Amino acid sequence: MARPTEWTPSLWQDTFNELLDDEVDYDDDWNINFNYTLNNKVSPEERKRGWKVFCHCARGKFYCRTCRRSWPSGRVTVLFRYRLRNGRGTVLMRPFGQDCRRCQEGFFDFPGFSERAVEEALLKLFSKIRKNCYGEDDGSDRGSTASDKVWTKPHEKALCEACQQGICDQDDDSEC
Ligand SMILES: [Zn+2]
Ligand SMILES: [Zn+2]
Repeated sequence: MARPTEWTPSLWQDTFNELLDDEVDYDDDWNINFNYTLNNKVSPEERKRGWKVFCHCARGKFYCRTCRRSWPSGRVTVLFRYRLRNGRGTVLMRPFGQDCRRCQEGFFDFPGFSERAVEEALLKLFSKIRKNCYGEDDGSDRGSTASDKVWTKPHEKALCEACQQGICDQDDDSEC
């Protein structure tokens, strides 16, 4: 099992594949990959090729290798791009990091997520996919579990990679 503070792509991939059969009731092949330079701007050209964007705000944990401190955040931005084309569904994901408040090293540590947080994020993503790729009704609450608000320190924009790129401002999930 991955430590909860460690960025674990395989956890996302495995959970994605586990949920896929139940959540996307179509024959198309879907897979998820990671792109650490992804942004939320979909050009008209990309839109034409079917790309859509989904921003999600998740709970995560960070760990600073320098001072060995870890901290939770109720506002970790994960960005998805997805499209369905010729029977092939593609999801690209980018997690946004945070810098350590004590060390302020000028780079962003990757977030770690609990299995539950991963599931919540992917369930929302799948509901977007059903709606935007298959034209299903917006059953956005199907299968999703309401997340408990956890108390974390006030969000510090200067330490948040997504804030730096201006995509963390949305209060709740949005399609950017
Ligand atoms: Zn530190
Ligand atoms: Zn932010």
